[in-house]
Amino acid sequence: MATPPQASPGYSKTITPQIDSPSPNPDRSPTVPATSTISPGAPRFPPPNLRKDQIPSPSIKNPTVLSPANGVKTGSPIPHLSTPPGPPVFTSPVRPAAVPFRTSPATPQPVAFSSGSSLPTSSPPHFSNGSVELQQQLPSAIEESLPNGESPCVLFSAQKVLKQKKQANVPSLGFGVLVSPGRETSPGPQVIQRDPHRCHNCGAYSNLYCNILIGSGQWQCVICRNLNGSEGEYITSSKEDLRNFPELSSPLVDFIQTGNKRPSFVPVTDSRTSAPIVLVIDECLDEPHLQHLQSSLHAFVDSVLPTTRIGIILYGRTVSVYDFSEESIASADVIPGGTSPTQENLKALIYGTGIYLSPMHASKEVAHQIFSSLRPYKLNVPEASRDRCLGTAVEVALAIIRGPSADMSRGVVKRPGGNSRIIVCSGGPNTYGPGSVPHSYTHPNYPHKEKTALKWMEGLGHEAHQHNTVVDILCAGTCPVRVPVLQPLAKASGGVLVLHDDFGEAFGVNLQRASARAAGSHGLLEIRCSDDILVTQVVGPGEEAQIDTHETFKNDISLCIQLLSVEETQCFSISMENKHDIKSDYVYFQFAIQYSNVYQADIARVITIRLPTVDSVSAYLQSVQDEVVAVLVAKRTLLRAKNYSDAIDMRTTIDERVKDIAFKFGSQVPKSKLYRFPKEISLLPELLFHLRRGPLLGSIVGHEDERSVLRNLFLNASFDLSVRMVAPRCLMHREGGTFEELPAYDLAMQSDTAVVLDHGTDVFIWLGAELAADEGRSAAALAACRTLAEELSELRFPAPRILAFKEGSSQARYFVSRLIPAHKDPPYEQEARFPQLRTLTTEQRTKLKSSFIHFDDPSFCEWIRSLKVVPPEPS
Ligand SMILES: [Zn+2]
Repeated sequence: MATPPQASPGYSKTITPQIDSPSPNPDRSPTVPATSTISPGAPRFPPPNLRKDQIPSPSIKNPTVLSPANGVKTGSPIPHLSTPPGPPVFTSPVRPAAVPFRTSPATPQPVAFSSGSSLPTSSPPHFSNGSVELQQQLPSAIEESLPNGESPCVLFSAQKVLKQKKQANVPSLGFGVLVSPGRETSPGPQVIQRDPHRCHNCGAYSNLYCNILIGSGQWQCVICRNLNGSEGEYITSSKEDLRNFPELSSPLVDFIQTGNKRPSFVPVTDSRTSAPIVLVIDECLDEPHLQHLQSSLHAFVDSVLPTTRIGIILYGRTVSVYDFSEESIASADVIPGGTSPTQENLKALIYGTGIYLSPMHASKEVAHQIFSSLRPYKLNVPEASRDRCLGTAVEVALAIIRGPSADMSRGVVKRPGGNSRIIVCSGGPNTYGPGSVPHSYTHPNYPHKEKTALKWMEGLGHEAHQHNTVVDILCAGTCPVRVPVLQPLAKASGGVLVLHDDFGEAFGVNLQRASARAAGSHGLLEIRCSDDILVTQVVGPGEEAQIDTHETFKNDISLCIQLLSVEETQCFSISMENKHDIKSDYVYFQFAIQYSNVYQADIARVITIRLPTVDSVSAYLQSVQDEVVAVLVAKRTLLRAKNYSDAIDMRTTIDERVKDIAFKFGSQVPKSKLYRFPKEISLLPELLFHLRRGPLLGSIVGHEDERSVLRNLFLNASFDLSVRMVAPRCLMHREGGTFEELPAYDLAMQSDTAVVLDHGTDVFIWLGAELAADEGRSAAALAACRTLAEELSELRFPAPRILAFKEGSSQARYFVSRLIPAHKDPPYEQEARFPQLRTLTTEQRTKLKSSFIHFDDPSFCEWIRSLKVVPPEPS
C-alpha cells in the first residue's frame, strides 16, 4: 500500500478543537484525572498536522509488521491501525442507473445489475473551441512539485486513475470520492475577499493547475480548456509572482462573496443569535424518564452560548409555548394539539406581548425553572397510547422561528445566517393531530393512516427546510416511536433522528452537540471533472438541483446538488467511471461549495484536485485507499438495503464483490481454481467482512427501526464516522495507561486486560474477569478506557452510546458479536493475523483458548476461503 504513514483524519479529527462549540458535557461525571490513564507525556494521538503541503492519508494502514514484543502503541507518534490485512475483495457490480444522482434512502431508484463491463454512459457535450492546442504552450501556474492534491474535505478511493476504461470501470472495486463540504480544515483555508475568476465557457474556477499567460493574464480552464481573461489581474512579471494568488497556489480556497448584498457584513459571534434553537419536549413521560430528561435539559441550558436565543415548547394533547417575558415565573400559552394551529392562534402568539425566543443570558434562570417545573404523566394510560401532538408542536415551533417577518412581502424578510434548529425530545410515537398514527398497529386503517402521516411529516420537513430550519429528533426510552413516520421529518429538513436507551448521558450529550453544530444554509455543491470522467452516482444529504446557469456559462455541465444543511459531520459519496480510455497524463476534479455560514457571509469554497493517470494496474492498486473504498462500497450497498430482507441480500453482493476483485485484479493460484486477493489492497476484504457482519447489514441490531436509523445516519455520515460504523477499532489497555491497537478479533478478549471497541455509534469497554477481580487495577483500567472512549468520540455527532461491562456478563454479548471470531483458526493463522498472541505465555494462550464458547460464525479466513479466494497475506 502506497499510503504514506501520516496522520489519519480519524485521529486528527478527534483532537482538532471545534470552533465555537461550547465546552462539552458539563452534565457528565468529571473525567478521571490523567495520571493513571493514557501514556502521559507522549501524545496519545498524532498531532493534527494537516498542513497545506501535506497529503493526509485517508486510510489508516499499517505498513510495518507488528513486532511480537511490541505491538503498535498509541503512544508512538503515528498510530497504525493494525487490522490484519484482509481478504480480497470482489464483484458483482452495482451498476449505476442512467440518472447519476440518487438521493439517499427515501427515493432510491432501481439499480440495474449486470456483471458485464458495459456501462450506460451519457455523452456530455464535447468541447472543441479551438483552445486545445494551447495546452502545450502554456506553462501552468506553478509547475514543479505540484501536489496531486488531496484535501481533508475530499478523499479519493485512489490517488491514481487507470487509463483503460475496461480496467477502470470494474464496478466491484470502483472509483469515487468522499466530499465533506462543511468540514473544518486545520489550519483554515486561504480566504479570498474578492470575486473568483470563472471560466466563461463551463463555469469552473481558476486554480493552481491552470496554464497562465503572464503577459496577458489569460488563464486556461483545466476542465474544458477554454482560454479566459482575468481582467488583467493575472498579469505578472514572473511565474513566481502568481504564487501570491491563493487560488493559484492552494488546492482549497474560500472566496467570501462581498458583492453589494451585505456591504456591512460583520463577522461577529453575535450574529449567530439570528438562528435560534427551539426545544420541543414530550410531556408524556413517566417519573424516571422525566428525571433523566430534566438533568439533561438543565445541563443543556448551562452549555448554550449566552447569546443563543432559545425557545421551549411542550407537547402532549396540547402545545404549551413558554413565555420568557415574566422574569421569574414559568408560564406558557396553550394551543390545542388536535389540528394544525390556526392563523388566529399563531397571530396571538406572534403579535402578542409574550417573548418566546430569548437569548440565554437573559433567560437562563427562567429556563431552569421551566425544566424544574415539568411533571410526570398522570393518567393511567400505557406509554404508547398517550396523546402526543408532535406534528402540531413542530408547526408552532416553525411559526415562532419565522416570527412576524413571515407576513412581510418578499425581499424584506431578513435572511438569517446559517440554519435555525428545532430539537424534538421524544419518548413515544406521534399519536394525536396532524401526522399522527393510531396507538395500535391493529387499527383497521393503520397502513393507510401511516402512509398519510408519513407524507405529512415529509411535507413539514420540506417546509422547515424552506425556512432554513433543521429538525433533529432525539428519541429515548423503550416505547417504540414509530421511526418510519418520524424519519421523513428529520430527513427532509436536513436533520437527524437518533435513538437512545434513555434520556441520560448519551442523550444529554447529543442534545448539546445538536445545538452546537455550526450549520450553513443555502448550500450548493457543484462537481466538475475532466471530460474523461463520468459521475455515476451521488449518495448524501441533498438533492439534485436544476439550476440554469447557461446565461452566464454557455457550457456548464456541472452536476449540481442542493444541500439541506452544510455541516462538518456530513459527507457526499460520489461514484465515478471513465467515459473512454484516457489519453492525458492527468485528470482534474473541481468541487465548489457555495453556502451562507453562521456569520451570514456567503462563501464559495473551491477545491481542485489533479490525479495522475496510469496504465499499470499494480500502480493503480498501490494507490488505492482501502478505507475510502470500503466506505464508498458500504454507502452504495446500504442505499439498497432498505429493509432487513434487502440487507440479507446485500451480504451476498459483498461476497460477490470480494470474489470479483480477486478474479479481476488478483492472480490465479497455479493448478487450482482459487484466486489470490491482490496484496496491494489487503485491508479491504476484512473491512467488508466487518460490514457484512456488523450493525448495518448483519444481525447484531435487534429491531428493524434501529437498523433503519443507523442506515440513515450512515448514508449521510462523514468519512470518520462512516469508517468506524463499517469496521470497529479495537484498543487494548496496557499497564501504564497506554493502549495497543489490535485487529478487532475475539482473540483480544484476554482475561487480564481491558479492551475498548469503537464501533462508531457504540463504544464498548470490556473488562476481563481476571482484571476485574483486582479492584485497584480494574478501576484504573476502567478510568483510562473511559477517558479514551470519550476522546475518541469527542467531536462525533451523534455521540455514541458508551457501555462498560465485565467478561461473562450478559452485556458482553454486544461486544463479542462485533469481533471477528478467530478462536477456531489454526494457531499459525491466528499468529499471522493477530501477532500480539506471540507475546502471551503458553499458560495464557491455553486460558484464552478455553475461554471461548463454541459458535458457528465463520472466521475471516473461513469466510474468504468459502468464496474460493485465498486470503491476502497480512502486510
Ligand atoms: Zn471551462
